[in-house]
Amino acid sequence: MVERSAVKILVLDDESFMLKLLNRILSNLGYSSVILCDSGRAALEKIADVDAVPNVILLDLNMPEMDGIEFVRHLVDRHYPGSLILVSGEDERILQTTVKLVRAHKIPILGYLHKPVKPDALSELLESWAPSAAGAAGMAKKVYAADELRAAIEGGQLVNYYQPKVAVATGEVVGVETLARWRHPADGIVFPDQFIGVAEAAGLIDDLTKAVFAGAMAQAKAWQEMQLPLRVAVNVSMDNLASLDFLNFVAELAAKEGIAPQNVVLEVTETKLMQDTRAPLEILTRLRLKRFRLSIDDFGTGHSSLAQLRDIPFDELKIDQGFVHRAGTDETLRAIYDASLSLARQLNMEVVAEGVQDREDWDLLRRTGCDLAQGAFLSGPMLPEDVPGWMKLWRERVRTELFLTEDVRK
Ligand SMILES: [Mg+2]
Repeated sequence: MVERSAVKILVLDDESFMLKLLNRILSNLGYSSVILCDSGRAALEKIADVDAVPNVILLDLNMPEMDGIEFVRHLVDRHYPGSLILVSGEDERILQTTVKLVRAHKIPILGYLHKPVKPDALSELLESWAPSAAGAAGMAKKVYAADELRAAIEGGQLVNYYQPKVAVATGEVVGVETLARWRHPADGIVFPDQFIGVAEAAGLIDDLTKAVFAGAMAQAKAWQEMQLPLRVAVNVSMDNLASLDFLNFVAELAAKEGIAPQNVVLEVTETKLMQDTRAPLEILTRLRLKRFRLSIDDFGTGHSSLAQLRDIPFDELKIDQGFVHRAGTDETLRAIYDASLSLARQLNMEVVAEGVQDREDWDLLRRTGCDLAQGAFLSGPMLPEDVPGWMKLWRERVRTELFLTEDVRK
């Protein structure tokens, strides 16, 4: 339990009346270490002093000159290690969007408050602040050196996990997505967000993708021999598609392992804007001509865009998880989910909903006729040896509960 007087708070609001009011509320609650600022610029000057860096900033979103969102960007540039509480008179949707924006910048956010601020609500949010949590979240994730990653790839420290994709209409398990993990000798299991960036920057992405692909094809062959004909998907970065070498590698390896191209899915993401798209377009079109399946991954985010749909003959569209979970109850998410589904239909693509987390999400997919589901409601990524056992349990769930109508369950 932290002494309230020890928590350093900065209040940023352009209205002096609000500053006084919040200061009084905070002081009544026992928070005495409070700095008041009436502009983003003044607040940034305070934060520049290492000893005065606040633990929590109460941030008004609507301010002249520098608004709250611009202020957050400055906080990111300065590696602000504390937490945020948003305060605004704006409607719920703008607040929610801003919360997402701030979280995307990895700044911990304790919550948001509507004006007029209620002391109870403010007290509750401040109570949720804890130095340990803030410290852990504020601590940068470990960055691995390119040499260490190169040695890991060569030394076989990358292992493939597999996450199932299921047909929504029948419950049939149609395939899996391959997800790379780094089994680090000292740090344990390391996730892709901690090494894909390094791989791309250091020119190791080809070696990495090839290692993952080779493992996936060997596994597909093993499943095929066990009478489990699973379509296996591998994530491919646009960076992989700069040279014809990759095309030959994929085609030759699949042929060598005896995997039909129809059972190989390449999930394509674009992490940065491509300078020259001619080579990737040619390679993707030729892979498609060889009957490999092409999937546009995380549709609706980043550069996974309409222009790509126009230019590349995709077979499958994966609706990003951010538009799937809770789309049954959130109107904005639902509109984006519906539009993505209908777009895929009109372009004759199969649709995969990512991020299916609960029964409500699953029922939405059934009601709307989405083709495939992927997400924690089915299963997270698992080791290949666990797949057959999981399939057995899944079939049991399909038989006993997953196709009951919603009325029967109630
Ligand atoms: Mg993917």
